[in-house]
Formats: sequence, structure tokens, C-alpha cells
Amino acid sequence: MISALLPNYNRADLAFERGEGAWLWTTDGRRFLDFGSGIATASLGHGHKGLADAIAAQAHKVMHVSNLYRIPQAEQLAARLVAATFADTVFFCNSGAEANEGLIKMVRKTMSATGKPERFGIICFEGAFHGRTLATLAATGNDHYLEGFGPKVEGFKHVPLNNMNAVRDAIDGHTAGILVEPVQGEGGMRSADVQFLRDLRVMCDEFGLVMALDEVQCGMGRSGKLFAHEWAGIEPDVISSAKGIGGGFPLGAVLAKEWVGRHLVPGTHGTTFGGNPLACTAGNAVLDVILAPGFLAEVVRKGEMLKDGVQKLIADFPAIFAEARGQGLMQGIKCVIPAGQVQVAFTGEGLMTVTAGENVVRLVPPLVTSEADLSEALVMMRRAAQGLASAAKAAAQ
Ligand SMILES: *Cc1c(COP(=O)(O)O)cnc(C)c1O
Repeated sequence: MISALLPNYNRADLAFERGEGAWLWTTDGRRFLDFGSGIATASLGHGHKGLADAIAAQAHKVMHVSNLYRIPQAEQLAARLVAATFADTVFFCNSGAEANEGLIKMVRKTMSATGKPERFGIICFEGAFHGRTLATLAATGNDHYLEGFGPKVEGFKHVPLNNMNAVRDAIDGHTAGILVEPVQGEGGMRSADVQFLRDLRVMCDEFGLVMALDEVQCGMGRSGKLFAHEWAGIEPDVISSAKGIGGGFPLGAVLAKEWVGRHLVPGTHGTTFGGNPLACTAGNAVLDVILAPGFLAEVVRKGEMLKDGVQKLIADFPAIFAEARGQGLMQGIKCVIPAGQVQVAFTGEGLMTVTAGENVVRLVPPLVTSEADLSEALVMMRRAAQGLASAAKAAAQ
């Protein structure tokens, strides 16, 4: 008989009761170092006092009123995001897929509202992940995820990442824009080259296309900048954000330039929950921490420390690990043996991680993780690698 909770996930047999910083305690009292952060989402770690207090205080006042009314918390969060980024305007929703749906609708509406309704196509990239709704699945383009769900939403083409010729070849009379992750998360922590992002910007200007970025995973400080595209020194036209933006509270956002955002006039798009007082209070509490002076510089420094440690591990265990990937506290290790096996060995040492495409194990600790946590994680990874290496040796004999 089917379980009461729909069994659509392969869950590890671990349940957590409470957390503190980068640490989690299971219901049976075991302690784990969380370098998965609930898939790069618990940006302030667990049990963060500022965030928890803000949510609790707001919950006691008013949680939800709907977008039929003004929401001061949303106005404040939007104004802060506009002040800190390329964007002129922000739409709030509840998840990454929903942010990308809003983004895709904005791109299409921008074209149709300016007399080019035939331009609804979006060029996406191999290895992308944009979500699980029908349109974002088509944008993701993974046949395995699309299988069995009927005709896929039209208008999405896929070309190799970091290949300008392929992008140029894909442009036709139907193209409205491009959608790219500055750092692919699910796809295996592959970065778009800085020069590639700059060339895309120039190309979008040349052809009048909308440059759209999916910063659901790499944004909100994870790369060491508030948004990862800042490393390329470019301004996109629209981006999606979610995951870390609410520190674990469900919140998504679309940040847009005025020429793109202004076409979603009343009646064209909406959401009941999106941007409610409680979610936006969480978003403001997260920004309080991430925008504090020196915080992002610390993310960069801790990211370098983690990468250095990972590179030493790779050098010491070439039969297990192949390559270090990623930016800031969005690191990955491409493995030689199956990444799932490495992840299980890490968990066995008390370190939680997440796998990704291309046989990669993701290391995405809370942005507030300490140097001591990083050192401890590296010790756990080394012990796991030693275990895997001696098991492999025994099997070979
Ligand atoms: C997780 C993710 C999404 C989807 O977000 P959900 O909140 O799961 O809908 C979209 N894009 C990227 C890059 C992601 O990492």
C-alpha cells in the first residue's frame, strides 16, 4: 500500500529535530554537519536567532493578507533588492520554479507587448535545471524528467554552455531571449565563463533579446557576490531567485529591469501566497545578514579555504576524486567512483552533502558556516576517502 506521504523522493533514513548553525541533530540524538543546507537553501544555517525571532514576531502580528492590499514588508524587501542590484522592480512568489515561470512570462510578454508576438522562444543550455513545473521542465530540457507528462511546452532550445557560436546559430525569428545559470547547480556545479556571460550580454543587445539568468541556486550570496553575474561585471535584464533568499522559508523572486518588468500589468500574472508579510519578513532578515559589511568577503574567503582543502584531497585520493568545481560556498567535487557512493561515505562520517549531475558531490554549507566547521568537514571527507580507498584496495586483491 502506498505510504501516506507520497513516495516521490528517495529519502535517506534520517530525521532531524533541531539545528544550530551548520549542525543538525537527529531525532535519535546523532549530530551531523550540514554541507547540503537543504539543497543550498538554509543560507543562515539552522536556528538562526535573528531570522527565527523575526518570523515568530511577524507570525504573531499578521502572516497573510493577499496581494489585494499593500504589503509593507514586501515593499521594503523589493526596495532593498533594487538598491543592491541591477533591477528596477521585483515580483515575489514562493519557489524557484514559480520564479522561473514568472521570468519566462515576462520575457514573452515583453516581446508581444512591443509588437513581436512571434518572438516567444528562449535559448537554454545543456545541463540546465530550471524547475519541475511544465514550462520550467521544458526549459530544463532533460528528457528523463519530461517523460510521461504529455507534450512539452513549446519554445525552448538547448545549446552547449560556454559556446557562443552555438548560441548565435540557435537565434531565429522566434527568439525572445536566453536563459542561463551563471553557475549550474543540479547540472554539476559548472560555471558559465565570465567572458561567455559578457559575450551573451553583447549579443542580447545586438539582437534585442532579453538576457535572463536563473540565480535560484547561485544567487543570494552563495558565489561570494549577492548575485553570481556580478563576477562578470554585467547587468542582466531579468533574474530569478529563490532557495537561499528566505533562509529556509519558502520565498522566490523575479528581479527585472523596467523595460522587461513593466509588461506584467494587473491581470497578467499573480499568486495568492507570493510576497506575503511572513515570507518577506524572512527575506528582510536574511538580507540584514548577507548585506552586512564584510559578510560576502567572508563567504569568498571561506569558499577559498574549502576549495584549497578539496584540492588537497583530490591530489591525495586521485582514485576517488577527479576535479574541484564551483565558486564561493557553492563547491563541487567531480568523483571518479560513483558520487552517490562518496556521498554515503561522507554521511557515514557525519557530513551531509548533495549529489549533482556529471557525478559531482555538492558542498553547499550555510553561508554562516565557521572556519572550524570547514576544517571539521575536510577531516570528515579525508576519513571517508581513506575508507573508500582501502575498500577499493581490498576489492582489487
Ligand atoms: C532548485 C532550482 C530551481 C527550482 O526551484 P524550486 O524551488 O525547487 O522550484 C530552479 N533553478 C535552479 C537553478 C535551481 O537550483
